Amino acid sequence: MRSTINTALKAVLDFALPPRCAGCGAIVADVHSFCGDCWSQVEFLGESGCMTCGMPLEATDAELCGVCVAKPPRIERTRSAVAYDELSRSIAIRLKYGRKVALARTMARFMAPLVRPEHDPVLVPVPLHRGRLWQRGFNQSLLVANEIARATGLRSEARLLRRTRSTPALKGMSIAQRRKTVAGAFAVDPAADLQGRTVVLVDDVLTTGSTANACAKVLKKAGAARIELVSWARVIKPTQLT
Ligand SMILES: [Zn+2]
Ligand SMILES: [Zn+2]
Repeated sequence: MRSTINTALKAVLDFALPPRCAGCGAIVADVHSFCGDCWSQVEFLGESGCMTCGMPLEATDAELCGVCVAKPPRIERTRSAVAYDELSRSIAIRLKYGRKVALARTMARFMAPLVRPEHDPVLVPVPLHRGRLWQRGFNQSLLVANEIARATGLRSEARLLRRTRSTPALKGMSIAQRRKTVAGAFAVDPAADLQGRTVVLVDDVLTTGSTANACAKVLKKAGAARIELVSWARVIKPTQLT
């Protein structure tokens, strides 16, 4: 209860105080934005890269990457606001562990334009296991999904997808190990009607996509027609795997 009040109070204070750069904290003119210095450092990904998976393309005239041509991925469209680096990482960390809840709106500001409304999608945050939720008090992806919902008018459904078991941190694991670790860790609410729907998964940081893929698998099994994914930051270089 107390932490809820503190969080609410913090959100109010964040509004009352002059807007600060989400990267370095310098006072800026615009809320939920960056100063000139940070702005020039941020690598915005947006609509660039492979039309399906969003990874940078080697051939500039191609629309799809070789991986997606060889085998269309389960997630039909993946978009991320920015590349994963010191700055984007620090924003994700400050939201997650520093309880800077206003940063959810900053992230959403850059993520919302990447959500396409055509298929009338439902926004689904990548869930935390309830043990982790109790520890942390909130799911950062849920906060971001709610802010995207506010900005787009789409619905965010936090209870649609659950994490049924706690999984260890994937840090340092190979892609195969990650896949194995998260397999079967998610379940769709049996009461949810997903038949023919488009789901946009919302996550803060996208690394290999193993977690999102495990989510997509159960969502498709439950009848979803199309799965997309939108994240704040994305690991582009494999050396950055976290
Ligand atoms: Zn700055
Ligand atoms: Zn691709």
